[in-house]
Amino acid sequence: MRALITGGAGFIGSHLAEALIARGDDVFILDDLSTGSVENIRHLKSSEKFHYTFDSLQNRHLLAEMVDESDVVFHLAAAVGVRLIVESPVRTIETNVNGTQLVLDAANKKKKLVLVASTSEVYGKSKEVPFREDSDLVLGPTTKGRWSYAASKALDEFLALSYWKEKQLPVVVVRFFNTVGPRQTGRYGMVLPNFVSQALENAPITIFGTGQQSRCFCDVQDSVQSIMRLVDSGKAVGEVVNVGTDEEVTIEDLAHVVKQRTRSSSPVTHTPYDEAYEPGFEDMLRRVPSLEKLERITGFRPRTPLNAIVDRVVAHFREKEKLAASNGDSLEEPVAAVQTRAQEAS
Ligand code: UDP
Repeated sequence: MRALITGGAGFIGSHLAEALIARGDDVFILDDLSTGSVENIRHLKSSEKFHYTFDSLQNRHLLAEMVDESDVVFHLAAAVGVRLIVESPVRTIETNVNGTQLVLDAANKKKKLVLVASTSEVYGKSKEVPFREDSDLVLGPTTKGRWSYAASKALDEFLALSYWKEKQLPVVVVRFFNTVGPRQTGRYGMVLPNFVSQALENAPITIFGTGQQSRCFCDVQDSVQSIMRLVDSGKAVGEVVNVGTDEEVTIEDLAHVVKQRTRSSSPVTHTPYDEAYEPGFEDMLRRVPSLEKLERITGFRPRTPLNAIVDRVVAHFREKEKLAASNGDSLEEPVAAVQTRAQEAS
């Protein structure tokens, strides 16, 4: 199979590329490197099955050509990370909505199967856990920037499902719940890489809010397995499917797990949301997927336990640390530098 991955130099995209190549597929990635990085795919470059193009989805001719040459499109390119979303809402909305529209339009010409990556954020403030794919979405007001991400992704879902209903374009919509693993960066605010890098430096582990909010963390390899199986099954076309685990952990407990697994002497601190993000920031207390549909369609359910995930992330950070020390580099680029590069790229 020939697969196109938009956002293929990103965290999930690079793991997907790896898994597809491992089973013998040809992989083409299109990435504008706004949040993805060359580092994520360096190890794949030597494979003759791997092809990369660094450009924007806005390059319509290129996109059309790449879609034409593929059997399936994994559309993962998107603005991600709560911090990025709060700080660059225009970019978030434009990237998510325009990008998906361009991909669906290109795929529609020859009716190529498209997997559209959405997010558990679309469930918003709903308290009806576990979240089922047909549950109501409960978003906050438009005056609160955080919700622009959920709304932009919900619009992506509507668009994809409309292409299926109206134009018979085969689409699969997946809602990723908190996905973690090696190569995820803490730059855009994601909690696990932040906690691990803080713990390894014996710096304060910064819990935002009370720490009683909970999440379910899914190993990226399990997420990748899930979406490959959804596409392979042929039974997910026209469907929305949750992808994640239902092992729930509070952020307070996560901080202590990370501290314990790294044997860190970091203090665990609490920062109010207003300071961590922006005044009036709203967080969701619980976010748990129903995995019934995923399991029914694929016969698969992500099961990697939290301790194993944390250990893998810690090992990755240690590896990076060693490499950085031998090159004399700093570990994580400062957020300001990333923002500037992202603005330049957009
Ligand atoms: N969080 C935290 N400290 C951090 C980063 C995040 O306590 O350094 C919290 C965040 O407020 C949220 C949870 O961890 O309640 C998960 O955050 P993340 O951005 O990883 O994903 P989200 O579930 O919010 O999309």
